[in-house]
Amino acid sequence: MTALEVLHTYWGYDAFRPMQEEIIREALEERDVLAILPTGGGKSVCFQVPCLMKEGIALVVTPLIALMKDQVQNLQDRGVRAMAIHAGMNRHEVDLALNNAAYGDYKFLYLSPERLQTRLFQSYLDVLKISYIVVDEAHCISQWGYDFRPSYLEIGKLRERTDAPVIALTATATPLVAHDIMDRLGFKEENLLRSGFERPNLSYIVRKTQDKMGQIRSICEGVSGSGIVYVRSRARTQELAEFLKSGGISASCYHAGLGAQTRADRQKAWKDGTTRVMVCTNAFGMGIDKPDVRFVVHADVPDSPEAYFQEAGRAGRDGKPSYAVLLWNGTDTARLKQLEEVSFPSLESMEDLYQKLHIFFQIPYDEGEGRMLKWDMAQFCKHFHLQQAPVYYAVKYMEREGHWTLAEDMDIPTRIKIDVDRSALYNIDLPDPLMPQVLEVLMRLYTGIFSYPVSIDEEAVASRCGVGVSALRQLLYGLSVNHVIRYIPADHATVLYLQHNRLRPGNVQLSPKRYQMLRSTYGERVKAIIEYVEEETMCRSQYLLKYFGQEKSEPCGKCDYCRAAKARPEDLRGQLKAWIEGRKGRYTLREVRTAFGTAEESYLETLRDLIDKKEVPPYQE
Ligand code: ADP
Ligand code: MG
Repeated sequence: MTALEVLHTYWGYDAFRPMQEEIIREALEERDVLAILPTGGGKSVCFQVPCLMKEGIALVVTPLIALMKDQVQNLQDRGVRAMAIHAGMNRHEVDLALNNAAYGDYKFLYLSPERLQTRLFQSYLDVLKISYIVVDEAHCISQWGYDFRPSYLEIGKLRERTDAPVIALTATATPLVAHDIMDRLGFKEENLLRSGFERPNLSYIVRKTQDKMGQIRSICEGVSGSGIVYVRSRARTQELAEFLKSGGISASCYHAGLGAQTRADRQKAWKDGTTRVMVCTNAFGMGIDKPDVRFVVHADVPDSPEAYFQEAGRAGRDGKPSYAVLLWNGTDTARLKQLEEVSFPSLESMEDLYQKLHIFFQIPYDEGEGRMLKWDMAQFCKHFHLQQAPVYYAVKYMEREGHWTLAEDMDIPTRIKIDVDRSALYNIDLPDPLMPQVLEVLMRLYTGIFSYPVSIDEEAVASRCGVGVSALRQLLYGLSVNHVIRYIPADHATVLYLQHNRLRPGNVQLSPKRYQMLRSTYGERVKAIIEYVEEETMCRSQYLLKYFGQEKSEPCGKCDYCRAAKARPEDLRGQLKAWIEGRKGRYTLREVRTAFGTAEESYLETLRDLIDKKEVPPYQE
């Protein structure tokens, strides 16, 4: 099959999107390739098609468990054998999965980067027939990027163990970051393919306002179709959704603190149009693929242009006119100006926190590797009389440094181990006649259940036993009271995975040089987003494109700046002149209309005047 046939067979699409085919060709010819495509540009297809065409299994490294599950599900739905190994699995589950990967004819193995360095994974490397090493969200490998994760550096080492070519993908890479990615992934030659970041159907609007609520309401009223409203705090998602609902707007709210079922239900209602507006934190949107989002409003300014561009870019994937509105005022810029300070607690305070955290969990020196700790930050801070913000950022910083992994808001499935021998099981008197049946089903579904706690799918077990989930939980509880099983109920928590044994105070040395470097690049990104909102002399689209390394571009004609410029004849003169200069004096009337046309057509008069005064050359027919 050709690449196009694969696309057609598995996805039902008729044609490739810009750059997809070129990227796939590079991969098929086994050249390492870095693909930079905007969010929604279709990066998954770029690696999934070549992987399907080659022998062996592709290792796909991706940082987010939720996305991983989504993609695996998506592939399975298309009849492709794919699986995932992520942070929430125990050793036995991982072992079983790797065994399947090696001998089970799978095409894709999704992995979180922390898994790469484990001995277990390394021991399987020689038996895995690896087709490609795929690095999704590849900017995570660069310390210059906005989301650096040290565990990504392990991918570079992986290259020493296999010859498989690399396919790296990201939506956000400045030229500096792109270069760094290819370097760290050990590219044999630099090979970068990118498609334009222009979103010609998207109007970027930046609005300074003291009445954000009122603005949001009028946007929701004025623009029909689905929308997303991003806010920073979880509490505010609910507040704002209530406010919109009270005005008769169909709205709902979403953040990572909600239960898995609630999130899934609300996401679905929004996706199928039952709910029109989703008010949410940035936990919403990743991996959600809804083409007809008509507006994305940011009620608070995000921390970087990268984050903003990704989130705003969720509007208008179907190519129809859509809006990306950013609301701000002095409070936002004041917060942003302090952000660098807050996000980088002093090195001493972080080294101190490292010890306190181990003390809190009573972990002695030289122990702790691999422990999963339920991380209740509020409780921790109360215990040591610390403020939450610096502790939060310190934990994140230490995560970057590879000391632990923070999995925020994890849904931890119910786990069960049967504590009695298989033979003894039939001689136990159980108080409920359904209990033996539950045990029967558990044994049948989960082979390892006598040796270690396995994650169970409560719904599947309940339906096989012919009871509801809550009745099942009662039964499980009863079995645990009778010491037949160990029952660890499902939970929603933030979990810290310790990456190594507790170090002694002198050994937790954070590099001041790295600290400075990380801090200054962080500061630059914050500065760039402040500049974006405060900027009053440049097209929004051009500003963003320039930030991402696309120097040549034309004014978009639709952002707040371009619209205002059209309304101001003096600015229009300047704009027209600059635009014509940019095209080296060669232009047609039609092109001018596309770039500058408004209902009033005032640009025509200005253009005639400019031509009459010989300030610009005449247009071509
Ligand atoms: P990204 O990872 O770049 O944000 P995705 O890989 O999630 O984007 O793709 C976004 C959407 O575009 C998905 O629904 C995908 O199936 C769809 N898509 C990708 N390639 C094509 C194509 N050639 N034709 C039509 N739809 C496509
Ligand atoms: Mg993607």
